[in-house]
Amino acid sequence: MKSRIIRIMVCLMAVMTLCLTACSHDTKPQQPKAQQTAKTVKQPAKKAQPQPMYIYMYRYDNFPVAQAQALCSELEKVYPHVHLVSSALPLPAKEYYKQGNRYRARGLVEDLFPYRHGGVALGMTTQIVYNPNEISPYWGIFGFSLVGHHSAVISSMVPKTHKRQPPEDMRKLMLHELGHAFGLYHCNDPHCFMVDFEHGNKFSQTPSFCNDCKRFLNSKGWKL
Ligand SMILES: [Zn+2]
Ligand SMILES: [Zn+2]
Repeated sequence: MKSRIIRIMVCLMAVMTLCLTACSHDTKPQQPKAQQTAKTVKQPAKKAQPQPMYIYMYRYDNFPVAQAQALCSELEKVYPHVHLVSSALPLPAKEYYKQGNRYRARGLVEDLFPYRHGGVALGMTTQIVYNPNEISPYWGIFGFSLVGHHSAVISSMVPKTHKRQPPEDMRKLMLHELGHAFGLYHCNDPHCFMVDFEHGNKFSQTPSFCNDCKRFLNSKGWKL
């Protein structure tokens, strides 16, 4: 009788051991799910504050310092980050068209690309600049820019008359070309700075940017 009880107990213990062994895997504590995922979820990177985009103004050769300073002051009224570079840049000889005594505007704008320094480069010259059109391959123009490429050139010489641009026209020309440099195309509003001059002079009919152009430029940091 005693040995029978012992045998039953041994059997019971064996069953219990089996059960414990069998259950031990299931009862192994699991890492809480939240903890598991916390390891794999990356913390969102802190948003870097966008650096203000500077407009760097460059005088070519003998462009008068006083006139550059006056333009710089006008520009600062509508755009807060302007830097007038003190030393003058030489006009690149490779852009010179000797027979017409003028410089290739597109070439000047492209040559300014390394001078943007993450901002916008504006070159100012007293020389005539040209851009080919259907009338002439050396058509004299007031200024030039490639839309959205952050580089522009303006000239203080009126090609037809060889006279200097009046200060107010020069200011409007600067804002027109910078408008292109920041990404604006020509505007259909005949009273907007961004109107297409169509080989003429429309400074007198353009008192400001239109509301659409203002909105666009303000989204780029302008204060219009
Ligand atoms: Zn234009
Ligand atoms: Zn407009």
